[in-house]
Amino acid sequence: MFNALTWAFLAALAATTLIRLWLAQRQIRHVRAHRDAVPPTFAATIPLAAHQKAADYTVAKTKFGMVDVLLDSVVLLVLTLGGLIQWLADGWALLLPLDSIWHGTALIASVFALQALISLPLALFRIFGIEERYGFNKMTLRLFMIDMLKGIVLAVALGVPVLVVVLWLMAAAGSLWWLYVWAVLVAFSLFMQLVVPTFIMPWFNKFSPLQDPALVERVERLLARCGFRSRGLYVMDGSKRSAHGNAFFAGVGASKRIVLFDTLIQRLNPAEVEAVLAHELGHYKLHHIKKMLVVNFALTLVSLFLLGLLIDQRWFYEGLGVGSVTLPIGLLLFMLVGPVFGFFLHPLQTLLSRKHEFEADAFATSHSGAADLVHALVKLYRDNAATLTPDPVHSAFYDSHPPAAIRIARLKGAT
Ligand SMILES: [Zn+2]
Repeated sequence: MFNALTWAFLAALAATTLIRLWLAQRQIRHVRAHRDAVPPTFAATIPLAAHQKAADYTVAKTKFGMVDVLLDSVVLLVLTLGGLIQWLADGWALLLPLDSIWHGTALIASVFALQALISLPLALFRIFGIEERYGFNKMTLRLFMIDMLKGIVLAVALGVPVLVVVLWLMAAAGSLWWLYVWAVLVAFSLFMQLVVPTFIMPWFNKFSPLQDPALVERVERLLARCGFRSRGLYVMDGSKRSAHGNAFFAGVGASKRIVLFDTLIQRLNPAEVEAVLAHELGHYKLHHIKKMLVVNFALTLVSLFLLGLLIDQRWFYEGLGVGSVTLPIGLLLFMLVGPVFGFFLHPLQTLLSRKHEFEADAFATSHSGAADLVHALVKLYRDNAATLTPDPVHSAFYDSHPPAAIRIARLKGAT
């Protein structure tokens, strides 16, 4: 029953898998080749030992990523052409009517649960193997299990209802169902923008108001300078899980808040924290967060329109190894196989994200100090063991942030 789509799918899967492995192997070779010398821009600030640790850490993560790529591809093949989806659909059909919403929900949930189960050993190895070896992991196995259970609760409490609504609309809303489904997904996404910072994140981490009076004053002056009103300045106990430091803005409207990781405050001086915040504020003020949401909504709309064209086509199902034609199976196949073709959009996404990073750096330069941002970034690269010498092609494909040397050179040009 395989057809032209089968061959197109196999060709795209082979291409993305080979490109991802090729990029990983380029990255490993490039980082290793530059392991024994700190780039001149950083020679005065980053010791050779830290540079070498960053190289080894990057190589370890990249090698691990290659295993992940291969496993993903094998699982996808087994699910589709290997007949596992068909087998699961037949199994659930013994309990629930084949074309019902409940059959669809059970099938889709079981495929996602299976994928999560398969990636569990990898997640364990990444945290308790690699992160542990390089001194970044602060998580206990107990905390890992608690996080996992909470994740399952959220997936069931939030994911399942949305899935049921989507499947119901697909079946009942007529030929424009994809438009209604899009509206539901957009509404859900906006709803999540509200509840993630206010209800979900506090379930995983403790948020306490920023205490240090000198830092509070500094940050408030910065906010006033930029004309930004927030609903709170919080410190998050990121150190509970990892030694990596970060800062971010979360939420929209009334739930808008600024969050600093405790690990960030420990390492940076107040001027540097201010510079990092000014960068984050730049993302907010220049509407990067809204723009990314709009881009995502547009991509979702195009995807749903495409799904609308494919969902009634028998060849779409048969080409991907499934003989039963039901709306939920069509949706499932599309969600699994779409990213294989969407992979080729990755560099465009990266390009947009880097443009935003440069703009936020420029914002930070004009509202705070470029020199402080440079100092902060160098400390963060060093402490996070982020490589200073990524392979340019690998970086162009994946890195949401510009390579360290390019970013720092731009900031230094601004001082
Ligand atoms: Zn940024």
